[in-house]
Amino acid sequence: MTDPETLSVTIVDGYVDEPAHFGVPPYISTYPRYAAGALVDAGVPRDQITYHTIDRLRDQPDYWRDVDEADLMIYLGGMTVPGKYVGGTPAEPEEVRKLAWTANGTSLMGGPVKFGVGEENAGATETERQDLDFDFVAKGDVEAAVHDLVDSGLEGFNNRMRDLDEVSRWAQEGAFIVEQHPNHPTHLICELETSRGCAYRCSFCTEPLYGNPEFRPPPTVVGEVDALSDYGVKHFRIGRQADILAYGGDGEAPNPDALRQLYSGIREVAPDLETLHLDNMNPITIVNWPERSREGIRIIAEHNTPGDTAAFGLESADPVVQEENNLNVTAEECFEAVRIVNEAAGWRPGEDPADAPTFGDGAPRRLPKLLPGINLLHGLKGEREETYERNRAFLQRVYDEGYMLRRINIRQVMAFDGTDMSDTGAEIANDHKQLFKRYKKRVREEIDNPMLERVAPPGTVLPDVHLEYHQDGTTFGRQLGTYPLLVGVPGERELGRTIDVAVVDHGYRSVTGVPYPLDLNAASMNELTAIPGIGDSTAGDIVVNRPYESIADADLGTAFDLSQFVTTRSLESAD
Ligand code: SF4
Repeated sequence: MTDPETLSVTIVDGYVDEPAHFGVPPYISTYPRYAAGALVDAGVPRDQITYHTIDRLRDQPDYWRDVDEADLMIYLGGMTVPGKYVGGTPAEPEEVRKLAWTANGTSLMGGPVKFGVGEENAGATETERQDLDFDFVAKGDVEAAVHDLVDSGLEGFNNRMRDLDEVSRWAQEGAFIVEQHPNHPTHLICELETSRGCAYRCSFCTEPLYGNPEFRPPPTVVGEVDALSDYGVKHFRIGRQADILAYGGDGEAPNPDALRQLYSGIREVAPDLETLHLDNMNPITIVNWPERSREGIRIIAEHNTPGDTAAFGLESADPVVQEENNLNVTAEECFEAVRIVNEAAGWRPGEDPADAPTFGDGAPRRLPKLLPGINLLHGLKGEREETYERNRAFLQRVYDEGYMLRRINIRQVMAFDGTDMSDTGAEIANDHKQLFKRYKKRVREEIDNPMLERVAPPGTVLPDVHLEYHQDGTTFGRQLGTYPLLVGVPGERELGRTIDVAVVDHGYRSVTGVPYPLDLNAASMNELTAIPGIGDSTAGDIVVNRPYESIADADLGTAFDLSQFVTTRSLESAD
């Protein structure tokens, strides 16, 4: 029997991406936090719990020692939706196997990896469950397995789900682990869980495997935010649920009072938070309960931070595909939900919410508070050529009728055991690969690009863009938040820093920006020419005629209003 007081534990985070739960950096999912809390609850001292991300193990191989020497090594991971990530690279199956081989102590694997492992983390693949040579695989909740395994002296555990009391306790007790994340404190966003499970049963989705939704009461989520704030977290996303609007209700209908308690409670315990975003809103909730939904959406927009996205799982605008896959919302209903979110929350800081949705010349240069995003999934049962045209036409209609979408996510299906799609597998997705490629390109060019210009026109200020990598002489970065815009800034700037940026141009899904405000006495040629209306010769004149005492001092010879981008800093600092 191993005494918990003497136990050393290493948690390795291989990252998760589930339909309603994200944990690739800069995000930290709930799994490592809950697992750490379960360990503490079972009697393991905090200072004997070590946490590493898979990227840290790759970058600093010395840390493998912690995997090797721990009495208990816990691997957390699993991708049940495909994706490409900037902030980290999820563990590949071979790496996970290596963890099991390296660990000298007891090894336990858990998280959505229990749903299956593919050849690679990609769309159009099939998966099967594997133990990857671990001693134990948690087939229920990994945090419950962690607790019970330690409680049994590392002998074993029964696969079970944790209850609400446990999760509330573990969420708070495990908050300390965030301090060991490489991105802590400034560049870390905590995914928060308000419920698991779903009232609906879409063919491809792993969320119903958690059963019907069970909500964490507001005080428990608020208490967790309070604890995380005490450990320096300033960025939060309420992303671990299938439908934020259903929070605290009967499982389907909205309960605005519960939303108010949740959001105002969070603001009270974390008054200095810098990001409060959400993920996942079910459009069918909005259509079925429009007035209660409007109220709920208004409450969210009052308390969140700008640039928030309510991702709608339309998945397909084709009625044949909807029927065959048990999808719950039609294109018409989804359009209605898009309209309501635009009207209730598509306002920008500094303007009257009643004016929403706003864009164009008169709109404040900030991102709207909350806009819908659309998820489309290809390779589903019944998909035909016409499906692609129907999806494209749906998106075009949203644009043509004057509404905004913050993001369009187009993917191919992954088929998981236990879901209805497992019989069909990736066959349709593979047959339609060429069609998919052409259509995706068309959507990017014809819809994403003009939509992005509507949402974030030139001059839009994006505060606190974190600079992440260089490519071809440009520095790329993103704000912390839900589906943040990728921002390219001319020149190679120091990475790891955070700057305010003003948008100057658009790609399909990314924007070009210059530091805001841009100092006319210090800006580079690249930065100056990135501003609309400033060509090479004007930029050259600006540089040659420095320094300036004021913007008016510089004869810019352009009709474009530069005051939204530039300033002049003290002359001593000018070059
Ligand atoms: S509505 Fe469908 S896609 Fe969304 S979580 Fe529920 S089952 Fe999954």
